[in-house]
Amino acid sequence: MAIIRLVTLLAEALYLEDSYLKECDAAVVSVKDGKYVVLDQTIFYPKGGGQPWDTGSIMEGDEIYNVVYVGKFSGEISHEVDRVGLSEGGRVHCILNWERRYKLMRSHTAAHVFATLLCSDTGALITGNQLEEEKVRFDFNLEKFDREILTKYIDEANELFTKDIPVKWYELPREEALKIPGVIKMAEALPPDIPYFRIVEIVGLDKQADGGTHVKNLREVGQIKLLKAENKGKNNRRVYFSLI
Ligand SMILES: [Zn+2]
Repeated sequence: MAIIRLVTLLAEALYLEDSYLKECDAAVVSVKDGKYVVLDQTIFYPKGGGQPWDTGSIMEGDEIYNVVYVGKFSGEISHEVDRVGLSEGGRVHCILNWERRYKLMRSHTAAHVFATLLCSDTGALITGNQLEEEKVRFDFNLEKFDREILTKYIDEANELFTKDIPVKWYELPREEALKIPGVIKMAEALPPDIPYFRIVEIVGLDKQADGGTHVKNLREVGQIKLLKAENKGKNNRRVYFSLI
């Protein structure tokens, strides 16, 4: 979704295959300006597609380097650490701030469900969204809306979060992926020029092209609550919700 980052699987991005990995070993491929570290494989999600970056630490022996930012630059995942000391060729151990990541996985998955209910019922398109550790923001275009209708979708989503509904992710060839109705939810997202799309499927509910991290079952989400709804001009709505 919004969250909509269309990517091919990168060999080093372990989180794309297994979003539950909390630790991994890695080798340092390069270090720029002492603090920007590229690894041969990583569990750290780089900022993108509406999902914030992961935090955690990179350890080399007894030395601990805190990961303060992770971004993707020229196709490489760069980990910004809080101090210098790592160097090319080093063997390191990565540990994720799992509490933060798991919250983001839960709220990211909740965002799919909420957007699917809203969009399929009203025909609205998502025009923007941003996950944060404590809340989720959605922008969408819809002529008529009120708090009541949003509460209805939150209630319906919460009902779904009490069920054992699996969430799966896999790759599909571009042509096949583009045949799925609604596979791209963002109003202005154009399919990128890549041969394979990563699809995130909430079984029986939604399939979309997406590069983020999600939980494996809707039960893991817990429950969500509406925080705020705003009118941002003609046809432009904004809503915030959070995990309970
Ligand atoms: Zn997603």
